[in-house]
Order: sequence, then structure tokens, then C-alpha cells
Amino acid sequence: MIKEDGYPYAFDPSACTGCGGRCCTGESGNIFVSPEEILALAAALEMAETEFRLTYLEKRGYKFSIKERIVGMSHDCIFFDRETNGCRVYTARPSQCRTFPFWEYYKTRVDELKRECPGIVDV
Ligand code: SF4
Repeated sequence: MIKEDGYPYAFDPSACTGCGGRCCTGESGNIFVSPEEILALAAALEMAETEFRLTYLEKRGYKFSIKERIVGMSHDCIFFDRETNGCRVYTARPSQCRTFPFWEYYKTRVDELKRECPGIVDV
């Protein structure tokens, strides 16, 4: 069980096994990446940075976000692998993914978070 100071919930990572990647699929959203994270992702995929940006990123305002792939009614992160139920760039995934579900946004929206993530436990 993972807890973070200041959050009214804990996270049980064992729930990921049967979840189907709800945090990487579903509603369309932003998966922002910093310049350092772009370099790390490009390196992980053994791609040049420019090629990586053109292939996997799109501009959202002044930031870059990872592209999505539409699967049925879902907007999957382009790196989500439905066959393995996992992230194809897990070791280089951006901070936004690493820190989920402990986002400031969810501190006061725990019911919304529980609908997205079966690993959320009240503390
Ligand atoms: S980069 Fe990986 S962990 Fe992050 S949303 Fe995409 S598939 Fe999920």
C-alpha cells in the first residue's frame, strides 16, 4: 500500500493487474512531457529526438503531450499495450504517469479518482 502525506487515500498497486489500464485509456486527456522526459523517451525507444517528437507527440498550447490512439470508444495513450496490459515505455514514462494517483487535482476529487482507479483505498 502506498501513501503520500496530505492525501486522503492510499494506493494498492496490486489492483493494476486486473484493471486494464484505466489510467492510460478512456477519456481523452493530456499526458504532458518535459524536454528532459522527451529525451529519455526518445533514448528508450532508440530514436532521434526529432523523429520521436514527430511520431509520438502533439503540441497542446505551449506544451507537448503524448499522442492517443482511438480504440473503440477509448482514447488510449499511444504507448499503452492492450495485449500485455502495460506501458511500452514504463522505465522512461513521464512524471505525470509516475506520480499517478497522487495528483493535486484528486485531493478533493476522491470519488472521481475511485471511478478511474480500482486501487484507491480510504485512509
Ligand atoms: S506513458 Fe505509459 S504509463 Fe503513461 S499514460 Fe502512456 S501507457 Fe500509461
